[in-house]
Amino acid sequence: MTEKETKKHRISGICPQCGCSHLSTMTEEEIKEKFPDLENATMECSECLASMELGFEEIDE
Ligand SMILES: [Zn+2]
Repeated sequence: MTEKETKKHRISGICPQCGCSHLSTMTEEEIKEKFPDLENATMECSECLASMELGFEEIDE
């Protein structure tokens, strides 16, 4: 028996205003908690506070 591991996802966004990029990794559970509406997931830029759209990508590690 193998234990099923939680898949990780890479979350990336590029700020439309200042152009800085954000990259983080979260498990599926964390994503569900933070972004219940995945289709419209946005994040506030830590530099200029503009909201940026996020992209999600599954990663195998
Ligand atoms: Zn910004």
